[in-house]
Amino acid sequence: MDDSVRDITIIGGGPTGLFGAFYGGLRGVSTRIIDSLPELGGQLTALYPEKDIFDVGGIPKILAKDLARDMVTQAMQFDPEVILDEEVRTIERDGEVFRLVGRQGEYLTRTVVVAGGKGAFEPRHLTCPGYHELMGRGVGYTVKDPEEYRGKRVLLVGGGDSALDWALILKDVAAELTLVHRRDGFRSHETSVARLHAANEAGELNLMTFHEVQEVHGSDCVIGATVMDNRTQEARRLEVDAVLTFLGFKPDLGPIKAWGIELDKNRIVVNQLMSTNIPGVYAAGDIVCYEGKLDLIATGYAEAAIAVNNAVHFINPDARVNPGHSTNLAIFKDK
Ligand code: FAD
Repeated sequence: MDDSVRDITIIGGGPTGLFGAFYGGLRGVSTRIIDSLPELGGQLTALYPEKDIFDVGGIPKILAKDLARDMVTQAMQFDPEVILDEEVRTIERDGEVFRLVGRQGEYLTRTVVVAGGKGAFEPRHLTCPGYHELMGRGVGYTVKDPEEYRGKRVLLVGGGDSALDWALILKDVAAELTLVHRRDGFRSHETSVARLHAANEAGELNLMTFHEVQEVHGSDCVIGATVMDNRTQEARRLEVDAVLTFLGFKPDLGPIKAWGIELDKNRIVVNQLMSTNIPGVYAAGDIVCYEGKLDLIATGYAEAAIAVNNAVHFINPDARVNPGHSTNLAIFKDK
């Protein structure tokens, strides 16, 4: 239980939530960001880190992961509290404040800005036998410390950035590293793909394209996996100690539906102040709907500014909604 009461808690650390946290800092209120992912950036880091973005004002072209990095830098200058790997399950009124209940803890806040995008991102998993049964006992979907895999035979599954990045790191730590991918195309930076093929040719890892995992074997821990060539249906068993999957993320609106907030087709209904039907609860970004809504980073920025400035006024009715221009604000004088 985090018993410190924040002025604004932002649910979602995508572009909208990050810009909201920056604005909270600019207005001098205490801010907290909670995200279900292990890193900030929302869709930009979870879904398309290597794609170029061309339509953010003042930035002609930028990789999504670089924009996410810069948004984090901008937001962090006012030291918001950041809670990652945490999904907010419920929001309830508790006297003067809201109590947010997550998987890991509870959080008190005077106002809430829901910037949940398409919902909480959850990792995609395999559905084959043995996968869920051996989760945490050799099967995993994140790497906390590469040293855990030193000297082990590791089977990695996936074809995106995370799969390739970890393959290139773990090949130097593991006794044997096999990367299985169901196609021969990769959703990753071309430099990583070139390095992967070079490592395969040098015998530093074993790349198996057009293969899928059919079963993970073991009772107390992983002892092997059966992989199948999806062109010939030929199956073969590999002796491995660990199976790590990097299959991307899928959003789940799940809990947000039960918060008592008015929705329209899985989107939160807001007025021009970005206020929901619950006083003190605001929303912004891809999660909201109103006539003319556009799902863009630029739109999310503007909505975040409106939501946060109105939240500031809600907390302190003497505070103006209009923040003034950053060019003139004393808070930036030392920066
Ligand atoms: P998101 O980025 O979705 O972030 C929401 C965050 O909230 C997520 O990290 C999620 O885990 C978290 N969350 C949700 N519910 C909970 C919960 N209950 N508890 C904890 N955390 C929660 N836009 C452009 O402007 N230009 C482009 O070129 C562009 N290209 C795109 C390309 C692709 C492939 C895709 C998929 C989108 C693209 N977009 C682009 C759209 C843009 O990424 C979105 O509009 C933007 O990410 C929305 O930001 P957001 O912060 O509102 O939501």
